[in-house]
Amino acid sequence: MAAAAVSPRFIVVGAGPAGVRAAQALVQAGVRPIVIDEGRRDGGQIYRRQPEGFTRSYDMLYGGEAAKARTLHSDFDAMRPHIDYRSETLAWNLTQGALHTLQGGQAHTLAFDAVIICVGATDRLMPVQGWNLAGCYSLGAAQIALKSQACAIGSRVVFAGTGPLLYLVAAQYLKAGANVAAVLDTSPAIPAPKAWKGLLARPHLLLRGLALQFMLCRAGVQVLKGVTPVRIRGDSITGVSGISVRDAQGVERTLQCDAVALGYHLRAETQLADLARCEFAFETVSRQWLPRIDEDGRSSTRGVYLAGDGVRILGADGAEAAGRLAALAALNDLGHEGGRALFTAQAPALRRTLATMNAFREGLARAFLWPHAQAAMLPDAAVLCRCESVTAGELRRSVREMGSQEINRAKAFSRVGMGRCQGRYCGHAAAEVVAHAAGIPVEQVGRLRAQAPVKPLLMDAKEVQA
Ligand SMILES: Cc1cc2nc3c(=O)[nH]c(=O)nc-3n(C[C@H](O)[C@H](O)[C@H](O)COP(=O)(O)OP(=O)(O)OC[C@H]3O[C@@H](n4cnc5c(N)ncnc54)[C@H](O)[C@@H]3O)c2cc1C
Repeated sequence: MAAAAVSPRFIVVGAGPAGVRAAQALVQAGVRPIVIDEGRRDGGQIYRRQPEGFTRSYDMLYGGEAAKARTLHSDFDAMRPHIDYRSETLAWNLTQGALHTLQGGQAHTLAFDAVIICVGATDRLMPVQGWNLAGCYSLGAAQIALKSQACAIGSRVVFAGTGPLLYLVAAQYLKAGANVAAVLDTSPAIPAPKAWKGLLARPHLLLRGLALQFMLCRAGVQVLKGVTPVRIRGDSITGVSGISVRDAQGVERTLQCDAVALGYHLRAETQLADLARCEFAFETVSRQWLPRIDEDGRSSTRGVYLAGDGVRILGADGAEAAGRLAALAALNDLGHEGGRALFTAQAPALRRTLATMNAFREGLARAFLWPHAQAAMLPDAAVLCRCESVTAGELRRSVREMGSQEINRAKAFSRVGMGRCQGRYCGHAAAEVVAHAAGIPVEQVGRLRAQAPVKPLLMDAKEVQA
């Protein structure tokens, strides 16, 4: 008797815009994927659903993006019977052909033929002296407090850093009635000429960004551009009391506040891709290592597809297109008949969409530059790695005295990036500090290798057969 054909197993990690659209493409092709998300509810970052029992309206929660949020949520709800959805489930490791997850106290090893990793991004942070004080949050955390719990992070908040999220979150706070003391942007007032070509690829978004800045200025919020953060002021008892910056003219100014939201655009969550042994390439404009993908989202590792902010920061619309395309590519590569037809019909338009979004992404990276020179200026006493309390001086000493010119070696000697966040928040700045101390280009320093578990997990989990 002939053995029954076993259908390929597809797993989608992440139920944000990229993951939802990837799952939807698979369902449309007649496949029942496993969809994993560590969050309680679907929606991802931008379309984060409020906890059950909270009743704020879509307009109040998502503003101009309300219609998109509603569509994504209702599409997800409609496909729930056709997917194996595992919420509050962490994908903590990826080995050859298997994803390792933890849900409650239960560990599962899930074999896959194709995994589509759509795990999004986190804040990209550049430390400043005092960023370890109570009252200093990342921009993303400040936004989550507002979106998820309708809370502000302080009664007088300064937003500092750079990138589109800086203005967006400040404007969201203002709209919600919070006291926005100032917006301090490290990027120059006029973007470099090379940035414009990319920015003009999505003119409506450019206009929306300018409108946010206009709204803040009209409300009397102090917006300073071209600043260099000097220190966040305060003490370990009462927390943040102010922030000092040098303005574009080099004059030091101090602003009073009881909370600072800090962020320098976003960084892709690449740990699972790294554990899957995907190749990475250095991107010069944003000064970071990113997984290599082809135009459809295939990584260099067979069966591993990457989509959304977890591989390139294209924003939510880009994530939706990338998720769908990666899923269709996976179906096509595995010879799925219905999927192959969908891929052939839809891939060209999706690729064109993504090319436009990628041009805009490059424009943003040039307009809101990663201020790498700040790492060189960090005083020795400034805490660089907050998890392990490693100072910039200790890291420099490991370069000087132990010759650690490679970031993983510097980690071994100094413990930078060895704590709870595994270098997700300090890793980029640490590489800049090492590069400057060693006098070598940052790409030569390398990148922190991901280690499993990608996030902290319970030690007494029980392995359950999938
Ligand atoms: C903090 C923050 C705030 C943002 N705010 C805005 C905004 O206001 N407006 C805007 O236009 N854009 C915003 N963005 C960008 C926007 O959220 C993204 O462009 C969009 O959500 C990308 O979709 P995605 O599906 O790639 O990732 P996400 O929406 O981030 O979804 C990723 C999903 O993967 C899950 N996940 C991650 N790791 C694991 C794991 N190991 N195991 C299981 N599940 C995992 C997460 O729980 C999440 O649900 C923000 C981004 C961030 C990081």
